[in-house]
Amino acid sequence: MADTSSAPRHIRLTSHAGGQGALPIHWGAATAAERGPVVGTTTNRGHRNVIGTHSGSYSVYRALAVAAGALSREHKADLTNTSPTDQIGPYPQWSDPGKIVSLDPWGAAVADVFATELAAGYDIRPTIAVTKAHVVLPEVIEAMQKGRISADGKILMRGGAACVTKAAIEPVWWLPGVAKRFGCSEANLRRVLFEETGGMYPELVTRSDLEVFLPPIGGQTVYIFGNPRDLANPEVELTARVHDECNGSDVFGSDICTCRPYLTHAIEECILGAQRGGVGLVSYSRKEGRALGEVTKFLVYNARKRQVGGDTADQYFARTECVAGVQDMRFQELMPDVLHWLGVRKIHRLVSMSNMKYDAITGSGIEVGERIDIPAGLIPADAQVEMQAKKAAGYFTPEGAPDADALKNTKGRAL
Ligand SMILES: [Zn+2]
Repeated sequence: MADTSSAPRHIRLTSHAGGQGALPIHWGAATAAERGPVVGTTTNRGHRNVIGTHSGSYSVYRALAVAAGALSREHKADLTNTSPTDQIGPYPQWSDPGKIVSLDPWGAAVADVFATELAAGYDIRPTIAVTKAHVVLPEVIEAMQKGRISADGKILMRGGAACVTKAAIEPVWWLPGVAKRFGCSEANLRRVLFEETGGMYPELVTRSDLEVFLPPIGGQTVYIFGNPRDLANPEVELTARVHDECNGSDVFGSDICTCRPYLTHAIEECILGAQRGGVGLVSYSRKEGRALGEVTKFLVYNARKRQVGGDTADQYFARTECVAGVQDMRFQELMPDVLHWLGVRKIHRLVSMSNMKYDAITGSGIEVGERIDIPAGLIPADAQVEMQAKKAAGYFTPEGAPDADALKNTKGRAL
C-alpha cells in the first residue's frame, strides 16, 4: 500500500492537550452557541474538542482511504445543498443534559447554527442528516392487495411506495451522561472503553477535560411517516417501533426470528396511523444480534440446534449466554435519546413487546399508551422458540406467558 507522504512523519500523540483554538462544549446548554460545536476533525488537531473521529465505525474505512492514497487527509466536506429537508427541533429535551447523552441534537444543523465557526475555519461536520425517500416493501404491497391498507396519494402511493422523511444519526457520547445511565463512574467507563478497545483511544484516560467521545460503532436511522413536527405533539397519535438490526431476517428473510415480519408490520401500522391523521416512526439501531454481532449470533444458532434435545425455548437464553457470556448487549439505556431528539413526549401505540425497550422509554419520561404485539400469523414456525422464550422472560403478551412445559415443548427445526 502506498505511503501517502514522501517524508517520514512523526506520530501525532493524542494524549497531550493541543489547546490551540479548541472551542469548549457545554453539553445540554440551551442554545447551539452556548453548547458549542463538536469538532472531531483530524486535519487541525488544535481544533479538536472530542475523543475519536466522525462516521462511527466507518472512521476506520476513512483511515483506509487515506492510507491507500484515495482520500486527502485535508479534505473538507462541501456542505452546499446538504441541509435537512425538514427542521427537527430545537425541543426542550435538547437542553436537558440528562435526556440526550448519545447523540448531538444540533448535529443536523451545524452548517446553520455554527456558520460563524465554519467561516472561521473550523471543520465542523454534521453527525445527523435528514432527507426524504419513497420506500417500497413487498409486505406493504401485499397488504394493499389484501385490502388491509390503501393508497391515499400522500402517505402511500398507488404503486405501493410510502413517502417518508428519514434521518441518519451517528453516535456522539457525552461520557459523564453515558456513565450515569449505566450506573458506573465516568473514570471507570473511560478506563474500560480504553482497555477493551485495545487502547485505541488514549485520550479516554489522559484527557479528562474532553467529555465527548465519537465511538467507532454503528448509529441509527429513523423513518418518519407523516409530518416530522407532529412527533413532538402529544395530541397527535404516534405509532412507533424501535427496532434493532437483524440482517439475517431484516434483509435476507431468515425465518429463525420475527424481526422482519414485526418490522414490516410496524411500517404498515405507521402508514395506517399517518393516514388517520397521526404520525409514524421507526427507529432502526445498528445493534446486530443483540449487539453481540453476527458471528456470535450464528455460533449460537448452531449451539441451539445441535444441543441434546434440539432447539427448545427453555434453553434459548442459556445457549446465548454460553457463547456470549451475556444474554444481550443492546443495553436499551441509550435508545430513548433519539426519541427525545425528535421531541417525543407520548407514544400512543408502541409496536414492540420488549419489556427492556418499554422500561427504557417510560423510564426516560415518555408516556406509552397501547402496546402492539406481533400478530400470531406473522410468526414463522422456526421463530416460535425465540418468541416463547422472550414471552417467558418478560415480553409483553396479552395472552400470558408460557409455562415451563410449554417452553420445553416449543421446538425449532434441526440444522
Ligand atoms: Zn432477528
